[in-house]
Amino acid sequence: MPSRALLLAFATALALLALLALVTLRAVTDLERPPSRWPGAAAIPLADGFDFPVGAPDARGYRDAQPFGLNQHLGSDWNGVLGADTDLGDPVFAAAAGLVTEAADHGGGWGNVVRVVHRVSSAPGRAAAGAGPERLVETLYAHLDRIDVRPGDLVTRGQPIGTIGTAHGRYLAHLHFELRTSVGVALGGGYGDPASLGHVDPTAFIQAHRPPRR
Ligand SMILES: [Zn+2]
Repeated sequence: MPSRALLLAFATALALLALLALVTLRAVTDLERPPSRWPGAAAIPLADGFDFPVGAPDARGYRDAQPFGLNQHLGSDWNGVLGADTDLGDPVFAAAAGLVTEAADHGGGWGNVVRVVHRVSSAPGRAAAGAGPERLVETLYAHLDRIDVRPGDLVTRGQPIGTIGTAHGRYLAHLHFELRTSVGVALGGGYGDPASLGHVDPTAFIQAHRPPRR
């Protein structure tokens, strides 16, 4: 007859497996959920283009010290060109119009994180006419010193959403900035396989989606 300890271990393993299955199912559901069925999607204004999240609109005065893909980095690390903590407290801007879906302190290597979901036309040239298929993308702003928005806020392109920080003293001040084609999925670790959580090169994406010239 199995001992009580063995039964307990078995039950614990079973519970953990069930939890893992639930979490995986939820992530897959989020990944595959079409924009029209994503909660709140209808309320998000169609983005008219993307700017850089620092030194808006063109990242003037900043450099990407660790570009996407380098060391398997899943974002850009925006730093003031003068280095060290000279950019501490500088404003961070929403890259495009969208809906704030998260504004929270995750501690650890993340610190304060803001996520914004954007409605994007897949045919940029036809965005003004509201024609063509649409999709959702997500921008993520991490290590913030201060958060200036709340979940549920609608933001405009270039609106200040917080300030550049150090993740509570963990790093020299910089903005870790990600752009994802999957919305509302796990935070992840900031490094790794871009395919797993839908990461794309944020700079390439912004350059391909600049707003129309006035
Ligand atoms: Zn980073």
